[in-house]
Amino acid sequence: MKTFSDFRSDTVTRPTEEMRRAMAEAEVGDDVLGDDPTVQKLEVLAASIMGKEAALFVPSGTMGNSIGVKIWTRELQEVIVEEKCHIYNMESTHMTFISRVTPRPLPSKRGALDPELVRSNVRLASVQTPQTSLICLENTHNNWGGSVIPLETFKEMRKVADEYGLKIHLDGARIFNASLASGVPVKEYARYCDSVMFCLSKGLSSPVGSMLVSDRASIDYARRVRKALGGGMRQAGVLAACGLISLTKMIDRLKEDHLRARRLAEAIYDLPGITLNPVEVETNIIVFYFNHPKITIPELLNKLKEKGILALGVFGGVRLVTHKDVDDEDVERAIKAFREILAS
Ligand SMILES: *Cc1c(COP(=O)(O)O)cnc(C)c1O
Repeated sequence: MKTFSDFRSDTVTRPTEEMRRAMAEAEVGDDVLGDDPTVQKLEVLAASIMGKEAALFVPSGTMGNSIGVKIWTRELQEVIVEEKCHIYNMESTHMTFISRVTPRPLPSKRGALDPELVRSNVRLASVQTPQTSLICLENTHNNWGGSVIPLETFKEMRKVADEYGLKIHLDGARIFNASLASGVPVKEYARYCDSVMFCLSKGLSSPVGSMLVSDRASIDYARRVRKALGGGMRQAGVLAACGLISLTKMIDRLKEDHLRARRLAEAIYDLPGITLNPVEVETNIIVFYFNHPKITIPELLNKLKEKGILALGVFGGVRLVTHKDVDDEDVERAIKAFREILAS
């Protein structure tokens, strides 16, 4: 048995054997000079999958979102975000650091913003107030336990955005998980957004890399912003070769992660201290609140670790993520560990 069954994140996935071979054999060039055929192939494929004109290969989801915010905003403006979203909470505040705009966090129903609430929070420029210029959505929603945002929210948000001349950026780090769970094609979500970022390095198992897609002029500008942020990569075809495998061969497999997360949730939700509705585990992320008379969250995480299970503490709770590198055996091991720790 492996030392640890790692449920901390789907970012821990290792590249597949096929990816390692593809890296060795990738045709490469200097991508900053526009010469890397493998990166170009990946960008063309990513754009076409999302139904957009162009795409940009970026080193991380955080950089993709940073550029996404930057291309749609300027100083003295404001961005509407969901209060638990990744961009606002987990990306070292690039909104203020890079784009020099203020976030306006709003509450939601499991990650889905109410379009009417957004409408009533849009601010027009005045001598005293920032001007709202962008709405950021997230699907699936990480801190809401991988919840799937309804397509209806996208449609309604587009109406609000068009009414006030706002742009919409989607943090679609796990957009393929959302699509598989809902049956809504990724293009349908993307249709209502001006730009979409999605990650190759999570469940799709690439070692590094994310994509930003949008219209061609915006991606041309985004490419300049990427360079300014130090994200221009030279023989990046070595990495893009993995991305091509992620997008052609790894998407369907995500369904297995959803089944395993549900199985795990159903087996632990009623243990003492855990507050979790297993029906709300729609994709590959479980977030449960934990309040136990004798065991704190750090103690629970330590006890799990002693039994070979790695998980992360988040927002007063615990997060478990399923992915390519945890199988049924790991799930059963985790269930056993939880029962031994909490059922006694
Ligand atoms: C992981 C993640 C990101 C950022 O990706 P990195 O590659 O880790 O920078 C952005 N948004 C969400 C929702 C994520 O889960």
